[in-house]
Amino acid sequence: MVFTHLPRKQDVPVTDPSVVATKYWHRLEDGRVQCDVCPRYCKLHEGQRGFCFVRECRDSAVVLTTYGRSSGYCIDPIEKKPLNHFLPGTPVLSFGTAGCNLGCKFCQNWDISKSREVDTLADSASPDAIVGDVRRNRPVEEISARFHETLAWWIVGVARRCGLRHVALSGGCFQNAWLTRRAVTRLEAAGCTAFTHQRVPANDGGISLGQTVRAAV
Ligand code: SF4
Repeated sequence: MVFTHLPRKQDVPVTDPSVVATKYWHRLEDGRVQCDVCPRYCKLHEGQRGFCFVRECRDSAVVLTTYGRSSGYCIDPIEKKPLNHFLPGTPVLSFGTAGCNLGCKFCQNWDISKSREVDTLADSASPDAIVGDVRRNRPVEEISARFHETLAWWIVGVARRCGLRHVALSGGCFQNAWLTRRAVTRLEAAGCTAFTHQRVPANDGGISLGQTVRAAV
């Protein structure tokens, strides 16, 4: 297999910091480029995206379009991860971006994994900054809290920009009680009324109920 390397990030003519060059792809004789990151080996024409949606053919090269755009960022119990009895009781810092190269019909994160908007629930969380925090021995609670504070301020910023006085907080990320409390506090301090879920869950359960009601009317 021949790999064509894009050696330097600055070679890619883009201004969006979330779009970066990738290494593992090669050109095909028919003019397409083949991504070699995963066994799907997507063969892309100019402007096409791969199955994962987050890798795209631009200027005859494969670029990643979600670098540092985190769609989920929280402290999880390690038991939630697919590891068998590894450091039980340890909190782990979890983060990821939109897009996935699998296509499971039962995916509980389908709104993120199959998102066609790479900024779904996303905020800036550059891998460099996260690794830097870890190297400086920052506790995961502090790293995570910084992200959630940013997200809470971002919600207020959007409400202000759009002139909203009433803001409903819904979707899986508002299962996170800490984030919800911070967002509500910040919104109320900014003179907004925040609505949160009371009788149905904020995540897939609530979304499914909404879809059922919508289908019934
Ligand atoms: S699914 Fe994404 S990562 Fe996998 S080969 Fe296709 S473009 Fe590359």
